[in-house]
Amino acid sequence: MKGTVLLPQALHARPANLVVRLASQQPSPIRLHVGGRSADARKILEVLALGAQKGDVLEIASEGAGSDEAVSAIAELVSRNFDADLVPDRGSPAVEGIAIGAALLLRHDGLEAEAPPARGPEEEHARLVRAQARAAEELRVLMEGLAPEERVLFEPEEAILREVAAAAAERTLAGETSEQAVLATTQDARTDLLLDARARLMDGLGHGDADGQALAQAGELGNEIVVVTDRLTPSLVARLPRQVVGIVAAEDDLPAGAARTSHAAILARGRELPLAIVGRHVADAIDAGDLVVVDTTHDPARVWCSPGETLVADARARRRRRSANSVGLAPAIAAAFARLGTAFLVNVGSVHDRVPEGVAGVGLLRTELLFAGRASAPAEADQVAAILAVARAARGAEVTVRLWDAGGDKPLPWLPSCHASERGVALLLAHPEVLRAQLAAVARAAQRAKVRVLVPMVRSAADIDAVRRCLESLGPSAAGLRVGAMIETPGAVEDAASVARASDFVSIGTNDLASLVLGTGRADATQALDGRVLRLIRRVVELSHAQGRGVTVCGEVAADPLGARVMVGLGVDGLSVAPSRLHGTVFVLEGVSIEDCRAVAVSVEARGRPEGSSS
Ligand code: PEP
Ligand code: MG
Repeated sequence: MKGTVLLPQALHARPANLVVRLASQQPSPIRLHVGGRSADARKILEVLALGAQKGDVLEIASEGAGSDEAVSAIAELVSRNFDADLVPDRGSPAVEGIAIGAALLLRHDGLEAEAPPARGPEEEHARLVRAQARAAEELRVLMEGLAPEERVLFEPEEAILREVAAAAAERTLAGETSEQAVLATTQDARTDLLLDARARLMDGLGHGDADGQALAQAGELGNEIVVVTDRLTPSLVARLPRQVVGIVAAEDDLPAGAARTSHAAILARGRELPLAIVGRHVADAIDAGDLVVVDTTHDPARVWCSPGETLVADARARRRRRSANSVGLAPAIAAAFARLGTAFLVNVGSVHDRVPEGVAGVGLLRTELLFAGRASAPAEADQVAAILAVARAARGAEVTVRLWDAGGDKPLPWLPSCHASERGVALLLAHPEVLRAQLAAVARAAQRAKVRVLVPMVRSAADIDAVRRCLESLGPSAAGLRVGAMIETPGAVEDAASVARASDFVSIGTNDLASLVLGTGRADATQALDGRVLRLIRRVVELSHAQGRGVTVCGEVAADPLGARVMVGLGVDGLSVAPSRLHGTVFVLEGVSIEDCRAVAVSVEARGRPEGSSS
C-alpha cells in the first residue's frame, strides 16, 4: 500500500516525532520517500535526515498486515498538519474510565538509588529500627482513616513491613547500608504491598515524603487532576485528594501482569479513578500542569497530552455518556435479553469488583487472581470466604467459579508448574491435593450461595470426568455441583461434542483460543474476529446446542463493539464481560436485532474483521 501527501510544513523535530510515534504503533514497518531520499518511519534520525520541506511530496509505503491502516494513519496526520490529537500514547487499562485533568507529577527519579554516607553497622541498624517504627505508625494512621473495605487491603502490609524490616536489619549488621538492605529485601516484588512497605521504609530513612508534599499542593492545579507517577503504591492511591480524577502510572515497578489486580488498582477501582499503566517514556513526556486526557475504556488505553479542544470536548461527552449509561443499566439489559435472547454476565477478578445490577450472574470468577499475591496456597476457609464475598456482591445471582487457571504464561507463585505446557486443568490434575482443596471450598460455598464450577483449558471430555470424580469423592452435595468446560484450546474444539456432553454448560475462552489458533499473543481481543477463530466458535456453539448445553463467551471479544454483535450472531447464549465494560456492551447492542447480528457474523466470518470497523 502506498499513499502520497503534500507536506503542509517541514518535517522538523515535533512533526517528525509525531510521525515516528505513530509509525511505531503500527503492526507493519513504514517507509517514507521524499525526492529520492528514503527513511524508516520508526527512526527519528532517518526521518529528520530526509530534510523534507513545506510543499514537498511525501510518499508513504508499507506492506503486510495492517499496512492500509498504517499508511492512512500517517497520511491523515500529515494532512491534519501534525495534529497531536491523532497520536495518543498507549498503555494498559488497569481501571476503566475517562479522566481529564491537569497533570500532577509524582516522580522519584534516582531517589532510591542514592548511596547515603556509610555509617557503622550499629548505627545503620538503629536507623532501620527507627524507620520501621515510623512506617508502622504511618500505616496505622492511614488505615484508621480508611473505610473498612479499603482497610482490609492493607492488613497484610503490617506483617510484610515487620518481616522486611527484620530481614533488612540483619543485612545492616552484615555491613549493608539501611537503604541497600531495604532495596535488596524488597527486590522480588510479588505484591505491590511490598512496594508500599519499601516506599514507607525509604521515606522513614530520611528520604522525605515527596508525594505527601506534592499532594498537599494539589489544589493549586484546580478541581480536576490527573496524577502521573513512576511509583504507584496502594498508599499513594489511598491518600489521593478528592480533586484527583485519574492516574497515569509508569510500569517499571509493578509485578508482571498484576496491573489490574494490584492493591493499587483495586483501590483506584473502588474510588472510580481510571488508571492507565504506561511505559516510562510516556510518563516522562508529560510536564507538570499539562492537560491530560486518559481513556482506559479500550485496550490499549490511550493517553493524550495537551490535546486540542475538539478532543477534550469529545472526551467530556463520552465521559457524560458513560455515567448516563450506567444509570438505568438493568432495564437496558432486560430489553437486550428480551430482544436477542443473550444473557449478560460479568467477569470478576477480585472481591472488590462491582457487580452491576441487572446482570444474570458472574460468568467467570478468575480465582487465580483472587489469590495471586500469596506466597503459599490459600486455606480452604479463605477460599470459601472469597467466593461468598463475590456471591454477596452479585446479590445472590449465580457465580461461575473457575478453578485455578495457572501455569505457562500465567504463573501462580504457590502452584509451580513442572512442565511449561501444563496449564489450567492439566496443572490441577498434576496437583490433585490442590484441585481437591479448591473443589471442597466451592462445595462449602455452595451450601450458602448459588455457584457452579468451570474447568479451565479443558483438553477433552476426560478432564471433565476427572473433575467430576474428584467432586464425587467429596460427598453427595459436592457431586451435585454443576460443572462447565472452558473451551479455549483447538483440541477441545475438535472434541467439542463429547466435551459438551460431559459438561453441564460451556464457556468459550476466546483470549486463549485466538492466541493458540493464530499463534499470536493474547494482547488484542479482536484477534478472535479472525475468520479461522470464528469458524471454531460457530462449531462449538452448534455442537454444544446439539447436546442441549448453553454457551457463554467470556473472552474480551465479548466486550468489543463489533465482537459482541458477532458473538450474538453466532448464537451464544451469554456474554460475560468486565463490569466496567458492561454498559458499553449493552449500549452497542441497543436497537440491534438478532438478524443484524447474524448477518454481521456471517460477513465477518467470511472476510475477517471488516475494514473501518471500530473497536
Ligand atoms: C479466555 O481465555 O478468553 C478467558 C476468558 O480466560 P483468561 O483470559 O482468564 O485466560
Ligand atoms: Mg483463558
